Amino acid sequence: MKITDLKCAVIGQHPVVRIVTDQGISGYGQIESSKPYLKPQVLFYKDRILGSDPTDVERVMLKIRRLGSFKPWGSAVSAIEMALWDLAGKAAGLPVYKLLGGKVRDRVRVYNGGVRFPMEGHSPEAHAEAMRRMKAAKEGFTIIKQGVAYHSAMPRQVPNFSYGELHTGQRPANRGPLTEQGLKHVIACVEAMKGALGDEVGLALDCGPGWMVSDAIRLAKAVEPLNVMWLEDLLTGDYVPYVSADLYREVTRATSTPIHTGEQIYLRQNFQDLIEKHAVRIIGPDPADIGGIAELKWVAEYADLHGILMAPHGVLDGIIGLAALVQVSATLPQNYIAFEYPVARPEWWYDIMDGLPDPIVKAGFIEVWDRPGLGVTFNEQAAKKRLADEDRGFFD
Ligand SMILES: [Mg+2]
Repeated sequence: MKITDLKCAVIGQHPVVRIVTDQGISGYGQIESSKPYLKPQVLFYKDRILGSDPTDVERVMLKIRRLGSFKPWGSAVSAIEMALWDLAGKAAGLPVYKLLGGKVRDRVRVYNGGVRFPMEGHSPEAHAEAMRRMKAAKEGFTIIKQGVAYHSAMPRQVPNFSYGELHTGQRPANRGPLTEQGLKHVIACVEAMKGALGDEVGLALDCGPGWMVSDAIRLAKAVEPLNVMWLEDLLTGDYVPYVSADLYREVTRATSTPIHTGEQIYLRQNFQDLIEKHAVRIIGPDPADIGGIAELKWVAEYADLHGILMAPHGVLDGIIGLAALVQVSATLPQNYIAFEYPVARPEWWYDIMDGLPDPIVKAGFIEVWDRPGLGVTFNEQAAKKRLADEDRGFFD
């Protein structure tokens, strides 16, 4: 089998990758909805993979893997890798999890990082109310993640929150020491959320990046009695092109609260320090950023050898990304906690794809499906109506 074309269409906000072969089958991969601008980067790899056998996934990846980087610049490589696995599975007539070594669980736990209800401000009570509504959500999530501090509007909306200079805009890269009032506000919100959830539903907190080491230690120690699932991306993380494992290690060594990072990190080599130095307790690579699903599996196995847990990121990965997460998570070792459930937007995404269970999430889990490849396919008739003019030929 040979690759004859690599196509990319922006559907909704997601760049979607299609690898076309000479045998009449195609593989699909998907980039986060926050990155519609990556279509030209996907096409950059086309000439490098044409003529390759897509079922030799690793051999194809060796041609393009070094031409990627930390989020967002590993996304195109990652989506191509997903599409290769989809193709390899379809060619073999097997679900991708079989090609990755077989499943070790029949259903995968997911956590809520994207099913949200409007929030009235940023008070502790508003946070508690949000948790009550999320706890009652039909998906029955057993873990809920909430953004706080620098991973929320708190720095701008809570008076005297930080000593740092605050930026505004779509992705304000705020960072700086917290005031005592700011720190106390975060802690009060965490206490209120735990009060609403009780001990039946786990609470994880996405915190930054942007914290100073000393403030991070204060927060982690203050919430120790609350048994939160993890504190995510305190120091580095989302769109930060470095890891700072030594700084994370200081925080981790100072507290029993699990520290988590990794969604922006590209490739196994860049997880090496975090893992070997035991710098965090949990890592959260995203298959759509780390370099693909086999890359994520490799990192998960290495983390397990070092006593580090897995909670993969995924909230914006869309439906093909969800399928990739289900397939790989079925195969992860026993350090697996849950992956972040992607919520597809716009809503019509659910009408242009076939293969999802209904409902998708039951009592906080997704049943692993057995169809070939990633196991979700486009309803081409419906999907064609969503193509932009320049992408009209995407399915041809
Ligand atoms: Mg995060």
